[in-house]
Amino acid sequence: MSGEANTGEITYDGVTRYSLSANPQPVFDFAGGTAALDFVNTVLWRTSAPRENLHDYSDILRFCRSARLVSDSDASQLKLDARRNPESARRAFRKIIKLRERLYSLFLAVARGRRPAAADMEALNRALGSALHNRLVASGRAFTWRWGGSAKDLERVVWPIVLESGELLVSDGGSRIKVCRGDGCGFLFLDKSKNQSRRWCAMQPCGNRVKVRRYQSRHTN
Ligand SMILES: [Zn+2]
Repeated sequence: MSGEANTGEITYDGVTRYSLSANPQPVFDFAGGTAALDFVNTVLWRTSAPRENLHDYSDILRFCRSARLVSDSDASQLKLDARRNPESARRAFRKIIKLRERLYSLFLAVARGRRPAAADMEALNRALGSALHNRLVASGRAFTWRWGGSAKDLERVVWPIVLESGELLVSDGGSRIKVCRGDGCGFLFLDKSKNQSRRWCAMQPCGNRVKVRRYQSRHTN
């Protein structure tokens, strides 16, 4: 395990899953297979020693940029708006985290073949109501979402996640949501395998994440 601090990145299957840095920046994991699940997976080790990756609005922006859910120019604008309106940023952050927990609970129920709680469905529907203020804009041959609601609404950064969550449940994606069987992991992922036989959030049973956890605890304590 020595020298791990200098590893920089952990890679398996040719895909970099983690960027490690001595800087205590959030470490995002994109093993969920879809932005909605990656978002709820911003709490690591949910079923053992939960570790929060989102501490304020700027962390949410960082996540959305890493997941390529927001353009650089929109991200800069949001960052500026958040800095100018710290109280709005704090409020947006709290609401986004509440929504994330609702989504986790909802997706977990779906993964376990249970009926989602009415309150979780209600939270998603409310968020969808706001997210649908988005406008679809054609630029050349491509289409992009433009904010259609209040430009000052800092929660808009997660609207692509909200829309995707709805799509995921409406499509057959819902039946492919699974909970990782890794010890203490709790990650949710979309099983895209042909025979739907995937059991772990990563191709190998969370092995590398165990290393990351050890690395993180060494560097924060
Ligand atoms: Zn896992």
